[in-house]
Amino acid sequence: MRITKTDYMEYTFCPKNLWLKKHKPELFENIPITDFQKEIILNGQIVDEASMTLFPDGELVTSKNLDPFDYSKELIAKKSITIFQASFEWDDFFVRTDILCFDKDTESWSLYEVKSTNSVKKTPYSHIKDLAFQKLVLKSNNVHIRHVGVIHLNKEYQRNGLLDYDQLFEETDVTNDVQDIENIVHTEMNDMKKYLGMPEKSGCACLYKGRSSQCQTFSYSNPSVPDYSVHNISRIGTRKKLLTDWMNRDIYSIEDIDNPDVLKGYQSFQYLAHMHGGAVVNVREILRILNDLEFPIHFLDYETYMTAIPAFDRCWPWQQMPFQYSIHVLNNDGSLEHKEYLMKEPSQDMTLALVEHLVEDMNDHGSVVVWYAPFEATRNKELATLHPEYSGFLSNMNDRIFDLMKIFSGGHYVDPAFKGSNSIKDVLPVLIPDLAYTDLEIQSGTEAPINWKKFIGQQLEPSEQKLIEKNLLEYCKLDTLAMVRIYQFLKGL
Ligand code: SF4
Repeated sequence: MRITKTDYMEYTFCPKNLWLKKHKPELFENIPITDFQKEIILNGQIVDEASMTLFPDGELVTSKNLDPFDYSKELIAKKSITIFQASFEWDDFFVRTDILCFDKDTESWSLYEVKSTNSVKKTPYSHIKDLAFQKLVLKSNNVHIRHVGVIHLNKEYQRNGLLDYDQLFEETDVTNDVQDIENIVHTEMNDMKKYLGMPEKSGCACLYKGRSSQCQTFSYSNPSVPDYSVHNISRIGTRKKLLTDWMNRDIYSIEDIDNPDVLKGYQSFQYLAHMHGGAVVNVREILRILNDLEFPIHFLDYETYMTAIPAFDRCWPWQQMPFQYSIHVLNNDGSLEHKEYLMKEPSQDMTLALVEHLVEDMNDHGSVVVWYAPFEATRNKELATLHPEYSGFLSNMNDRIFDLMKIFSGGHYVDPAFKGSNSIKDVLPVLIPDLAYTDLEIQSGTEAPINWKKFIGQQLEPSEQKLIEKNLLEYCKLDTLAMVRIYQFLKGL
């Protein structure tokens, strides 16, 4: 069985998951890759390719070259200055290195791993372990590695015209970190080999963790656990002792809990809601909170676009650049106005027009209601850094922000149908069933930037462009209308 470094990284995260991938691949066949995952993969490939520009003399090992292993050995023997994608085997282990550079003075090689991240990651998918795995396989192939580095993106880099690759990338020397864990990694590689050769172990470690830790094979490994179980109780993963006690006593269903008094805050409301089969609502507290909001109330939502390599001027790696907003303004007399903005073409200063429109569309007083405030508040802070002339306006907006999600995450309204989620996508259909995202072409925040990329970057037929524009505007509009309707529903309690 060939074991790659990706397999090893998977093993360090979850041995059972790797075992299933190797022995029961059919379990993963029907798990679709989301558009978001596809974008992340695409960004990684783009970063890999871009990093090659740092080494103009590099030679690429591809399947077009003879046998990649033989060709890699040939280039190593020849002491080529830089090799991309050199392949090596040792025992059952296989690696394809991103970049190898030969140093004539020391007669040794530097090993580089390219990562599309803004820094070196130590946990949980440690870049250090990844490189230690590679170094061990290279050592066994008599390739003497003297220096090990991670080439990652420089979060301080702001694009200005053509990309400056020397500024876009930076290297972090991890030679000592890798050396420190080589023995541990060697032991783990042997353990992994043994583990993969063993028969399947029943169950899996996520039985003792909350729902957010589990992967898609959880129900295969734990068939006795229902789809909606004690694992769905909010933040139950942080209460290890309690969850372990329940698991050891086969308490999987919420209705089987025999010690509900140990549940606290939101968890106890979730339990009560489930047992009563209806919402648990603290009307007095909800009204007290909502009565503090000031008219005109602005319901605001941004859509953002993010790429590893900045696509536009003044953007930095992985910046979440707002390209669209929707605002519903609710006045004291009950009247409702809608304002919106969508960036339609690239410009030298991408977000400036958005901020200028925002200034027009927002009143200088009245509450600003969002769903999950850290997101909009952080975008406002970033916009203020980019456009200091509007920093007063943007920080004033942040001073007026109210997070509507807190009514739900704070346990003031808990419905069993939310299934422990506070996402607007889960709350809306329960409270306002006539308003649904499923009626729209774009149905999630991850689809919006993918559509905007098409809208702005491709030569589309005018009719297709019009359609995407309409879909984008409708999606963002629904996000803020949903908040208005939820607010009105709560006020009507
Ligand atoms: S559910 Fe958790 S423990 Fe089980 S295979 Fe998936 S990640 Fe591993």
